[in-house]
Formats: sequence, structure tokens, C-alpha cells
Amino acid sequence: MKKLLIANWKMYLKEKQTLDLIKKYKERLKKFSQLEIVVAPSDLYLIKSAELLKKTKLKLAAQNIAQIEEGALTGEVSAEMAHEIGCKYTIVGHSERRIHLNETDDQINKKINLAYNNGLTPILCIGETLKDKVDENRDTVLTVQLRNALSKVNGLPEKELLIAYEPVWAIGTGKTMEAEEMLTINRLIKRIISSLYSESFYENKVKLLYGGSINSINAKEFWLNEVVDGLLVGSASIDNEQTYNIAHSSL
Ligand code: PEP
Repeated sequence: MKKLLIANWKMYLKEKQTLDLIKKYKERLKKFSQLEIVVAPSDLYLIKSAELLKKTKLKLAAQNIAQIEEGALTGEVSAEMAHEIGCKYTIVGHSERRIHLNETDDQINKKINLAYNNGLTPILCIGETLKDKVDENRDTVLTVQLRNALSKVNGLPEKELLIAYEPVWAIGTGKTMEAEEMLTINRLIKRIISSLYSESFYENKVKLLYGGSINSINAKEFWLNEVVDGLLVGSASIDNEQTYNIAHSSL
């Protein structure tokens, strides 16, 4: 099974920078056939990015989709629109949206349903804040986030689901978790998913990713961890050289 390297470019890059970086990714990352590499540029550049990615193995993800199918929701992009222009994946429930845009578990649940209904595979982000961690509430927070996001989802357990464990205290802070800790996270998520669906769904259809200040130095220990199916990389992924080194460290 190919491991995943997902590059979340957030709101970092303008048009020329986005398209230039895609061209560099195409050139430098094509030799890493052991990885599925996914880029998530700003919505504004998805169409041009999709054109550049045609006939390559790189895949496209939206950073977000709307929580309704279509209609009056100014400024949003629907799951159908993202799929129509060539996205395979969509990130859902990123902590930056939960925290700064007050995205709720209920909206996240609707987005997961809409993703599946429109041919997208969701990359569901979950993670505890520093306060949750200090208060020893991590497991409760993750359990609630997962149960709420995945309750009564159309398409499960048949379809693939990507779960990105991204501790909020590690995102963009330069702090990472010990890769070993993913064993505990995996056990917890497996227990929750098995109770919602089944253990075989978890084993066969769910991929567990880690995200949070991954760079070319710390990536290797996560790649080596047997329960980690991939990495979700933010700021380091806007640097072509770092991304090359992160991909290389998976060999
Ligand atoms: C992210 O945005 O999902 C992320 C993990 O960011 P960073 O790598 O910058 O911490």
C-alpha cells in the first residue's frame, strides 16, 4: 500500500507561486512511486492546478468544502464543484477552521457526507488543544470529534476514509509529538471506529495520518512507524526542497 504525503498549502501561496511549486513538485517528486502525493492549494487555483496535474500521478485536494449541497452560501465552494474540477480529496475539519471559523462537529459531519455523495474522499482532521492535553482530556476530545464527525455517514463502511491526527499544539509551532505515541492514538481511533462501524472497516478502509510541524528532519521517524499511513504537511510543504527531503525520507 502506498503511503500518503499530503501538502496543505493553506493561504500561503499566490497564483504564480502555486503554479511554480506544482511544476517543481511534478519534476522532483515523480520518482517517489512508493508515495501518493496530494496537493491542496487555495480554491482559487484549483482549476489551474488541475490542468497542470493532468497526466501526472499527483492528486488534488480541496482545503475545505461547504456544508450544504448548493445554493445560498456566499463565499463557499461545494463538494460537487471541487469534484467537478478534479479534486480527489477534501480536507475536512482542519483545526484552523474549527478554531478561527468556529466550525462545528455538526458541520464537519455534513461535509463528510457531502464529500462521499460527490465522489470525494475526506481527510478528516482531529486533534486536541494544548489545554486538552494538559488537562488529560485528549482521549475524550478525540472520541467526541470522531463520533460526531462520523455519525450516520452515507457511504461508510464501504468507502475509504483518511483520518489525520493533528494535535493542535503541534500545528505550525515547531513542536512534534513522539512518533511512538501514534501507537496509542491508533489503538484509540481503532476502538472508536470499530464501535461505530467495524474492525475490518478500520483495517481495510481507514488510513491514519499524522500532521503537526513535520519537516525533513522529523519525518523519517513517522514514516517508520508501522501504524502511520501518511503525513499531512503544512508549512514545510511550500518549500520544494523540504518536500523532496520529506518524501525521500520515506524510502
Ligand atoms: C497542517 O496545516 O495540517 C499542518 C500540519 O501544518 P504544519 O505542518 O505547518 O504544522
